[in-house]
Amino acid sequence: MFLRKIMTALAVTVGLTFVVPALVVDSASAAAPTAVRTIYYDASGAQEFKADVDEGAAAWNKAVSVIELKPATGTQATIKVYADDGWPRTSSNGFGRGTIYMGRQAVKDGFYPPRIAAHEIAHALGLPDNRNGRCDYLMSGHSSPTSCKTTTPHETEAAQVTRNAGGLFPATLARPLEFKDCWVF
Ligand SMILES: [Zn+2]
Repeated sequence: MFLRKIMTALAVTVGLTFVVPALVVDSASAAAPTAVRTIYYDASGAQEFKADVDEGAAAWNKAVSVIELKPATGTQATIKVYADDGWPRTSSNGFGRGTIYMGRQAVKDGFYPPRIAAHEIAHALGLPDNRNGRCDYLMSGHSSPTSCKTTTPHETEAAQVTRNAGGLFPATLARPLEFKDCWVF
């Protein structure tokens, strides 16, 4: 019964994709885990880090096929990125929703801005910090060396975001999750 439902859903999806692909993309947010969820981010306030934010977003788009982070301005954007002299930090309001600060303090300490951006974006995609000291994990933050310039998520991080996009992480949170000491020694 369940399998038949999935097969029917797949058939419908395939049919729609073939006939009207634009419609499928537009309705993706309410659809099955296999549908692409478009997430708009506004990096117009990220000042000198704008290109770094784009690079971080591109790394996630490459690693996770079910999401597409797209630049946008104004109310369309659910992720807003700013820059200031504090520490990089994120307030997460749900999957694909949050406010990010590209703090200059971590850049001053030598951390690589595109990696900082990819890390903070991950918080807005429902990933917590994971201070395991490994450069091949984005969420290791300050526990990885400043020489680490990896922006590609570890496969386990990509898999978690895929599950989050499929509904594991809530679309909205009653109270925002605050991640403030990602890059603080
Ligand atoms: Zn963090």
